Amino acid sequence: MKRIGEHAVVLGASISGLLAARVLSEAFDRVTVVERDQLPDGQRTQRRGVPQGRHAHGLLSKGAKIFEELFPGILDDFVAGGAPVIDGPAELRMRLGGHLLCMDGEYADLSRTYQPSRPHLESRLRARIGALSRIKVIDQCQVTGLRTTSDNGTVTGVGVRYEGSGSEDVIPADLVVDATGRSGRTTKWLVEMGYEPPAEERIDVDIMYTSRYLRPAPGSMGREKVVIIGHAPGSPKGAEFLEEEDGRWVLTLIGYRDHHPPTDPAGWIEFARPLVPDHVFAAIRDAEPLSEISAHRFPASVRRRYEKLTRFPRRLVVVGDAISSFNPIYAQGMTVASLQAMALRDSLSGDLDQVAQRFFRKAAKPIGVAWRMATGSDLALPQIEGPRPLPVRLINSYMDKVLAAAETDMVVAEKFLKVQYLLEPPTTLCTPSTMRRVLAAHRRRRSSAPAPTH
Ligand SMILES: Cc1cc2nc3c(=O)[nH]c(=O)nc-3n(C[C@H](O)[C@H](O)[C@H](O)COP(=O)(O)OP(=O)(O)OC[C@H]3O[C@@H](n4cnc5c(N)ncnc54)[C@H](O)[C@@H]3O)c2cc1C
Repeated sequence: MKRIGEHAVVLGASISGLLAARVLSEAFDRVTVVERDQLPDGQRTQRRGVPQGRHAHGLLSKGAKIFEELFPGILDDFVAGGAPVIDGPAELRMRLGGHLLCMDGEYADLSRTYQPSRPHLESRLRARIGALSRIKVIDQCQVTGLRTTSDNGTVTGVGVRYEGSGSEDVIPADLVVDATGRSGRTTKWLVEMGYEPPAEERIDVDIMYTSRYLRPAPGSMGREKVVIIGHAPGSPKGAEFLEEEDGRWVLTLIGYRDHHPPTDPAGWIEFARPLVPDHVFAAIRDAEPLSEISAHRFPASVRRRYEKLTRFPRRLVVVGDAISSFNPIYAQGMTVASLQAMALRDSLSGDLDQVAQRFFRKAAKPIGVAWRMATGSDLALPQIEGPRPLPVRLINSYMDKVLAAAETDMVVAEKFLKVQYLLEPPTTLCTPSTMRRVLAAHRRRRSSAPAPTH
């Protein structure tokens, strides 16, 4: 790729920051990543800036594919470090909307999925970034603000404060990329600089995530390596029980507003009982606890519409959760960050002053797909407030039939998973052949006994 600048600075060394740095290194001589936390050496070490690292954290197949494209061999790195691989339906128990996806048979072409813990995934990503000579990561360095030309029209660098230093330094840059996450401060900086902030879309979900690491007795989970129980009509709750490295599992129990899980150990385990099947509950109840219970409250899915702004400073880009932060139960964040990295890569040619406009426009498409999937599914719950125009109601009604068909029809289950994993667009569930299968299953169900609910 042709060079378009000398120095790019990325704010934040989490997933979207590191992926952005990787693609920027193709178009800039140097890339500096600035991170507030002290970045750990260990594969399992948590850090303050990523509290979500203590909870179930899935990498969707589309994200895994992009990781592999940007860092060939990284999926093998995950496995070499102990991450489980999910090879077929028998290893995945997924119940969504009250429907248990078919676990018999094989997928025709859905490839394996990878399950590194979040700290392991980040540590492998940092190792790959560390091997790229154009990229330098500076940790324990807090970004304090932007530096601009006197008319605030062009960003020229960032103000930073190194840990233990009382004074501020400036890092000059030809392009600044804000990857500081959901609470990223670009919106505030824009207002201070005399710009309109982006319009914000928001769906309040008030989700509570509570998690604990467990070591179940060997063999107690049979072949299952992933158990995902989503919300269902009348049950705004969920559970995820995932195997990670070294026989360690993470159990995350989730509840929407008024249904938050308790955090005392006995009450917490009881919360799981009605959600999971008996053998999973027994494995959880009898497992050795390896940590305390961590809690994380997630108030709302938020999408900032940067692509709609008509005035925006030149040479500033915003990526990742700082643009769109999704209800985490759909596990989309890291994959949408990787789709944004590809959109950024596609925007790094031509005039440097136009990179942001090109990027926001290109990124809006994958963000929009993920946003409509996540918010549409949340709006299936009556307690979630938000607009439910006819298309949302029709899609939710059809999705319920798709999931019902996926209980017994492996073809439909696989098609559904490909959409869920962001490999295929949702429209692939509406082809004539899929609709025929869905309606045939619907007719069969109406004339037979109900399927098992666990
Ligand atoms: C409870 C929970 C569970 C989740 N589960 C999943 C899942 O299963 N699958 C999935 O794909 N996604 C999941 N996500 C979302 C996912 O974690 C994020 O989408 C992903 O980390 C990308 O976010 P990011 O890199 O943009 O920001 P973040 O991960 O929030 O990182 C921001 C970085 O910026 C740094 N920073 C912040 N301010 C400054 C500053 N002033 N100066 C310097 N550095 C700064 C922070 O320390 C941090 O390193 C979950 C999120 C939550 C909250």
